[in-house]
Amino acid sequence: MLTRHHPLHGSPLGTQRAITSFHYGPAETGHQRGRKVYVQASLHADELPGMLLAHHLRQRLAVLETAGLLRAEFVIVPVANPIGLAQTVLLTNEGRFDLAGGENFNRRYPSLFAPVLAAVEGRLVDDEAANAQIIRAALREAAQALPQENELMSQRKTLLALACDAEVVLDLHCDCESLIHLYTGTALWPQAEPLARLTGSRASLLAAESGDNPFDEACSQTWWQLAAHFDGRHPVPMGCLSVTLELRGQADVSHPLASGDADALVAFFAHRGLVDLPAPVLPPLHNEATPLAGTDDLKAPISGLVVYVRDIGDEIRAGDVVVELIDPISGDVHPVRSRTGGLLFARQVQRFARAGRSLCQVAGNTPIRVGKLSSD
Ligand SMILES: [Zn+2]
Repeated sequence: MLTRHHPLHGSPLGTQRAITSFHYGPAETGHQRGRKVYVQASLHADELPGMLLAHHLRQRLAVLETAGLLRAEFVIVPVANPIGLAQTVLLTNEGRFDLAGGENFNRRYPSLFAPVLAAVEGRLVDDEAANAQIIRAALREAAQALPQENELMSQRKTLLALACDAEVVLDLHCDCESLIHLYTGTALWPQAEPLARLTGSRASLLAAESGDNPFDEACSQTWWQLAAHFDGRHPVPMGCLSVTLELRGQADVSHPLASGDADALVAFFAHRGLVDLPAPVLPPLHNEATPLAGTDDLKAPISGLVVYVRDIGDEIRAGDVVVELIDPISGDVHPVRSRTGGLLFARQVQRFARAGRSLCQVAGNTPIRVGKLSSD
């Protein structure tokens, strides 16, 4: 195991923040770069189940490394957002938005498509595996060349540079109150489906572009953009299975859950031949994947007291009332109905909402939304 520290550029005077990465297994196979897996936790710094999962996963990787069973380099970043982790306001950690500029820590990751295309144009061949090697080298160069005009951009650059050439990228998040679920690229679903089975994911939400450039898409989108560009000329694989894994709710930080999740990830790595263990029997899939555009994001019609009348895990029919917004001054009760049928998989913790606030999500299988699909 190797430990690497990546000091962030632009830390305030008198301070120095850094990303710490832990590297297990072989980084090279012969003269070539070998296979690589990247796992990071708590990019939204107040979403902590992934941090504990990373802690358990590191223990398993250490044992597997000692036994010589790792067939890839595994890069683990348990604290992906030291900037956010340091933002305590009135006893509460604000880990989702950067207080300096208001930006969501998991948005505005730069696209690497243009510089990678410029680097690989004229160099690709008829061999998919060879093209993947060429593209991964170009991704590394493109990420290294990104500007870092402030500390936040330096953090984004550092994380992207660590992840961009991996064949599996797992970005560990959680929701407020939630069942385990995942987000990934539509083209990646065949590769992600075993992960959904092994983790027991209850909803798998697919989009080619969810909006505002989250980390997972910055890692994977270049592959399908290149595949489209070179379609009919050169084969380009979906070379990065990048998944945002939502590890239930913010309070779901426990050893039994994190230990079980770590076992599930190791089983997935065995399934892909990334660790030399027997391939697991895949459990059934809880629910078929659905388009992210089919997820209804129910919003508060007024400012008021939030009372959920349906529970997480309920199957909702289109038109069902899921929440009531109550104005205790006028006595008015505003029912909020789901526009789609499907699984109620996530809802807010706060029981008071301002008008327009997102309250909960129902995963339907028919697209009902266009434009930006990701949450704020
Ligand atoms: Zn998150």
